[in-house]
Amino acid sequence: MRLNGKDYYKILGVSRDASSDEIKKAYRRLAKQYHPDRNPNNKEAEEHFKEIAEAYEVLSDDEKRKQYDAGRLFSQAGAYGPGFKGDFRGFDFGGGGEGFTFGGDIGDIFNLFTGSTGRTRKTRRRGEKGEDVEVGVNLSFEDALRGAQVSVSLNSTETCGLCRGTGSAPGTFPETCPICGGRGSISEDQGFFGISRPCPTCYGRGAIIKNPCSSCGGAGVITKPKKVRLKIPAGVSEGSRIRFKGRGEPGREGGAPGDLYVVTHVAKHPFYGRKNSDITLELPVTYAEAVLGTEVEIPTVDGHVRLKIPAGTQSGRTFRLRGKGAPRLKGKGKGDMLVTVRVMVPSKPTKKEKELIEKLKEAERKDIRAHIS
Ligand SMILES: [Zn+2]
Ligand SMILES: [Zn+2]
Repeated sequence: MRLNGKDYYKILGVSRDASSDEIKKAYRRLAKQYHPDRNPNNKEAEEHFKEIAEAYEVLSDDEKRKQYDAGRLFSQAGAYGPGFKGDFRGFDFGGGGEGFTFGGDIGDIFNLFTGSTGRTRKTRRRGEKGEDVEVGVNLSFEDALRGAQVSVSLNSTETCGLCRGTGSAPGTFPETCPICGGRGSISEDQGFFGISRPCPTCYGRGAIIKNPCSSCGGAGVITKPKKVRLKIPAGVSEGSRIRFKGRGEPGREGGAPGDLYVVTHVAKHPFYGRKNSDITLELPVTYAEAVLGTEVEIPTVDGHVRLKIPAGTQSGRTFRLRGKGAPRLKGKGKGDMLVTVRVMVPSKPTKKEKELIEKLKEAERKDIRAHIS
């Protein structure tokens, strides 16, 4: 039985009794010739390249070759199936290359192994979501209110160009992990329960890299700094966490990219403060103003407003100026301005002040602490 009628010996152009060295040489020569880099936008070459890889995958492995020769290879789905659908990380042939992706297709090659059992398991699995990334940005008080364009530097990971994401040195391939047989997990019998844990040899990948790529050290990706321009919405405050969906690290094997979180740090203003979407302001008033009442010009972020301080206002009382705050990050409109009165006590009164205060003291109530005596 030949898989899809394919003759792997014919594909590699070697005889049935070819030595492993001959097979390797033939594979290297053909892989070079049909490599997608050399044949851009050539579907036929691409297909053939995959066939060559598939043929080599089988014929270069003594055990698989034996089984193939005996026509038994593809009836043993268990040996290849689950493993290759599992975590075949790092076996993505250059998702980052120019339009050519071998990534999903290598999975399909392995699907062929499962396919012949009759238990057709379509194993085009969903790739892994990329990592979320968090960065901090510094903003002025005003920018936090108005919103701003900022430029941040991210470490972006890209598919390694040398190994095209496989993690294996060019011309070599990851090998099925001998410990877990490609499943990525190993099970231990614990009485009734079979406990499955990630394979410690291949770290759950199902494959091991024998000849790591010199450029990426086997990771399949390389890290590069990248400048990104982002629009910070109006109304952020210290510690706001803004999510930029899909701007994090790229996913693996077609997985969705992660998200980017920007945490804002807002510079202190000389007199304004922030409390969510409200802007706060401390308003110093004199003792006389607090007692008799007054009207004060309040500088708001959109112009001056007159605020009436009623007679008898206590220190610490807060007045709310509606709609004079910061834009609301979630929802519409703006917050308020919160004006808190501080009655100031002169630490160095003038001579005149002192005279008047002495007089005031004589006139004042003497029972101010009666309730606690
Ligand atoms: Zn393993
Ligand atoms: Zn590499």
